[in-house]
Amino acid sequence: MNVSDSEIVASILTGAGYTYTSDLMKADIILINTCSIRENAEVKVRHRLQYLGSLKKKNHELVIGLLGCMAERIKTALIEEENLLDLIAGPDSYRDLPKLLTEVGSGHPLVNTILSQEETYADIIPVRLDKNGVSGFISIMRGCENFCSYCVVPSTRGKERSRDINSILHETQDLFDKGYREVTFLGQNVNSYRWSENGTSITFAELLARAASLDPSLRIRFATSHPKDLPDELLMTIAHYPNICKAIHLPLQSGSNNVLDRMNRKYTREQYLQRINAIRQHIPGCAVSTDIIVGFCGETEEDHRQTLSLMEDAGFDFAYMFKYSERKLTLAAETLKDDIPDPVKERRLHEVIRLQQELSLRSNKLDMGKNFEVLIEGDSKRSKNHFSGRTSQNKVVVFPKTITEVSHYVNVKILRCTSATLMGEVIPQSSTG
Ligand code: SAH
Ligand code: SF4
Repeated sequence: MNVSDSEIVASILTGAGYTYTSDLMKADIILINTCSIRENAEVKVRHRLQYLGSLKKKNHELVIGLLGCMAERIKTALIEEENLLDLIAGPDSYRDLPKLLTEVGSGHPLVNTILSQEETYADIIPVRLDKNGVSGFISIMRGCENFCSYCVVPSTRGKERSRDINSILHETQDLFDKGYREVTFLGQNVNSYRWSENGTSITFAELLARAASLDPSLRIRFATSHPKDLPDELLMTIAHYPNICKAIHLPLQSGSNNVLDRMNRKYTREQYLQRINAIRQHIPGCAVSTDIIVGFCGETEEDHRQTLSLMEDAGFDFAYMFKYSERKLTLAAETLKDDIPDPVKERRLHEVIRLQQELSLRSNKLDMGKNFEVLIEGDSKRSKNHFSGRTSQNKVVVFPKTITEVSHYVNVKILRCTSATLMGEVIPQSSTG
């Protein structure tokens, strides 16, 4: 989400006559885009601000601004603690930035953190800040009103708003014309995307189908799907179009019904597993990844074991795993006790990470000997003699540069793997099946 927001900001400011640079030393204005979902994200931003403070001491003209969720959440604390900030803009006030920038310099930070019910930045074509020029991100909706009890998003990013389908498709086509071959549609809960066109309601499945029809050589990805509403219609659409990626990010959070209930996730472990079965049935070979939180309020050893057992049953290909961190302004902070001692959270986190490494390795081993279409993203990080790319299932594949004529897609046979990466070799076009 944040890359996508930074690109919107870059577009607004470029339109107002500013020039983007990624070189800190050349910048007259430095804007930090922030997220406050977990506590350590905030800790990192504070460290970054301290560093920028040292730059400002050398150059008094330097303008420093803070954008995004954190701006909205802890603006009062920040203004008091960090008097180096010139402006603070929440996620719905980026259009105000050119105006705010003309007014800085009064000695007091300028602040706009008003949340909107309508802002989707639909008319703004983001300036691409990502490096590879092959895969880009498009925000298709903003905000969230699911109110999971641990989560700050509803209070920092406001109500759920879907963006005009025509502006999404226009931006997708624009990326394709610029040479991109993969776009990821972003939203906190993409399944609930809705747009009304000539009196008919357009669903997320319809959006995917229309985007996939723009060009068969453009891959479409999306995140995140909420397990409470992953309809079969959507699964069938994903199965139908070869260029809709066969990878679903379906955050589980916990395998225990008691914990899921306290988290206000609105599904049970049985319903979650039923959705996994539906994915396996409709989309053979689909990868499923997840998010897990350990040590949520009141989580018992039995609850934790249920998470481990559900991970095994679902056989996740990949997972992001977190220790619960209490966030102010959430339902959990206000009504539940953060009562799991840190060493216990740490041990449980360790256990889910260890299990996930096994599951990822198991999943990768099943790919050995198989051929996959890989979209090349660039040189491998470790070797200039290798390319790195991704399969439709979102797995990273590294392979030697045996081809001279580089196109976007190659077929690769998988020969080896670790739990994180597949390694293979390019197979000539004529022998691919
Ligand atoms: N909208 C998405 C996720 C957004 S946040 C969804 O509903 O799944 C990304 C992930 O951060 C969450 O899935 C959750 O696993 C984690 N997360 C959010 N708040 C957290 C908190 N207070 N402590 C620990 N992890 C948290
Ligand atoms: Fe947060 Fe839940 Fe919304 Fe995801 S669905 S952003 S976890 S409130």
